[in-house]
Amino acid sequence: MTANYHTHTPRCGHAVGSEREYIERAIEGGIKTLGFSDHAPYSFDKPGKYPNVRMEPSELPGYAETLFSLRNEYRDRLSLHLGVEAEFYPKYFYALINDLRSCGVEYMILGQHFLGNEIGEPGSMAATCDPSVLDRYVSQVMEGLETGLFTYLAHPDVLRFEGDPHEYDRLYRKLCVRARELNVPLEINLLGIKNGRHYPNEAFWRIAGEEGNTVILGSDAHRPEDTWMPEIELRALSLVEKYSLHLIDDIKLRQI
Ligand SMILES: [Zn+2]
Ligand SMILES: [Zn+2]
Repeated sequence: MTANYHTHTPRCGHAVGSEREYIERAIEGGIKTLGFSDHAPYSFDKPGKYPNVRMEPSELPGYAETLFSLRNEYRDRLSLHLGVEAEFYPKYFYALINDLRSCGVEYMILGQHFLGNEIGEPGSMAATCDPSVLDRYVSQVMEGLETGLFTYLAHPDVLRFEGDPHEYDRLYRKLCVRARELNVPLEINLLGIKNGRHYPNEAFWRIAGEEGNTVILGSDAHRPEDTWMPEIELRALSLVEKYSLHLIDDIKLRQI
């Protein structure tokens, strides 16, 4: 792994360590390109339901300033990029984009942790056997990808559907086909492997292999040591091999 675009900071409320520690760990692992993608500072028109999920809008300028300064300091050792991981929430999306642009944020990855516009909606990690929930997830993610603003799709298999395997296949395949048409890579999430989460789900990656999707690894680091996880990386690579996935090591950022 020479590039990782999925890195958090404590601003989201559930990560630890300084940016410098994440950078040093990346250098230790031979990573040449490091992107920070903390959880996007959505402004809701009423309090969000879920605390400690994302940075506050007021923290965005400091996030940008800190990373621009470190980018300059480390410019001879690795290339640093400023991004966010964002859900696609139609109601609030374009206000977010304006805020991100005004602070010089370069890229976004899509991580659809909740449905709808978050408030009052189910989370993607909650197990469900209802195909209509997976259908909503797939439609919402496709709509997000169709904006052309997302560099890649993080943990595409985050929606925890445990119902009819035929529905799993039909709906997730629809997502894989659309992602391929739009030329958006799918991320194998290393934190999911490390923490034994329901993703990466082999049923999903089998489909991605059959549909010829492009795949990238993302560490999803929430602590500095997770920026480079050699043993977890090997497990991800065995998934790549098992399902003949088209792995890319680096990616051209889609400017927002
Ligand atoms: Zn997180
Ligand atoms: Zn993440």
